[in-house]
Amino acid sequence: MVKGPIDDKYYDDALALASSIDTQYIEKIRELKEKKRAIILAHNYQRPEIQDLADLVGDSLDLSRKAAATDAEVIVFCGVYFMAESAAILSPEKTVLLPVKEAGCQLADMITIQELRKKKKENPKAAVVCYVNSSAQVKAESDICCTSANGVGVINSLKENKILFVPDEHLGRYLESKTKKDVILWKGFCPTHYNLLAKDILRAKEDHPEAKVLVHPECRLSVIDLADEAISTNGILEYVKKSETKEFIIGTEMGIIHRLKKESPNKKFYPASKNLICPSMKLITLKEIAQSLEKMRYKIEIPEEVRKKAKKSLDRMLEV
Ligand code: SF4
Repeated sequence: MVKGPIDDKYYDDALALASSIDTQYIEKIRELKEKKRAIILAHNYQRPEIQDLADLVGDSLDLSRKAAATDAEVIVFCGVYFMAESAAILSPEKTVLLPVKEAGCQLADMITIQELRKKKKENPKAAVVCYVNSSAQVKAESDICCTSANGVGVINSLKENKILFVPDEHLGRYLESKTKKDVILWKGFCPTHYNLLAKDILRAKEDHPEAKVLVHPECRLSVIDLADEAISTNGILEYVKKSETKEFIIGTEMGIIHRLKKESPNKKFYPASKNLICPSMKLITLKEIAQSLEKMRYKIEIPEEVRKKAKKSLDRMLEV
């Protein structure tokens, strides 16, 4: 157990543990990228050196939408499986690669298509809203998708009063608190955000009394209640840029601090807990990106029928 204030050192130590930078691959990746007409996308939670190398850095849906609008033939998605699937849903004509096939999302894996079908049968009048952190199959089986940023608007746009929200119980509970709908919650959670506790926030606030607390809505409500804002990763980045405040306690995966520091170099950022690391998000290294481009692996393949249905759920969200 680490004692004392949570400061930059925790962030640096944690990332040093998670990261082993092998710069020899950078040139190789650039050559291969050119040759294969590829674009590299990095989620905000990826290792710093991967964010620095990527063509685009952002949240999963934003990246997938922007990549779809490019003329690249290959998308290398540095993130987790469902994110690469989202890119493939929106860019069927491009080859989408996930450099490490084991890079899954524990939250997305907490629901199967069979379980969802069963729950739908039990609640025939409920509209199914699925968080984008879910598989293509689950998206295809849902009425509409949502992100952590637009969830309230999506739920309020539906005529149904009863909502089956999957797979994140905590985000679902937060959205329920912001709408007047009856939300049936699925018992899924993101372990990284779930591990952040109210006592971590209280300690961070004690150590940094001037700092604003920004947390992700995948956190527990007891954590959200102590925060100044509960917002998406892109929301955090925007908020910090516009804010007059100089110090921030960040309650989401600490990979985002790299981008926050780059975009707002005169501000200070403290991870709300030293445990805010998603192991899956740290699996991809420069070496794997180089190998992925060289061997064109691991290709994301979604049956066309599933892809079309999943796209419909995403498109419906974008119309809200
Ligand atoms: S941080 Fe949580 S939701 Fe995001 S990829 Fe990791 S396990 Fe999944």
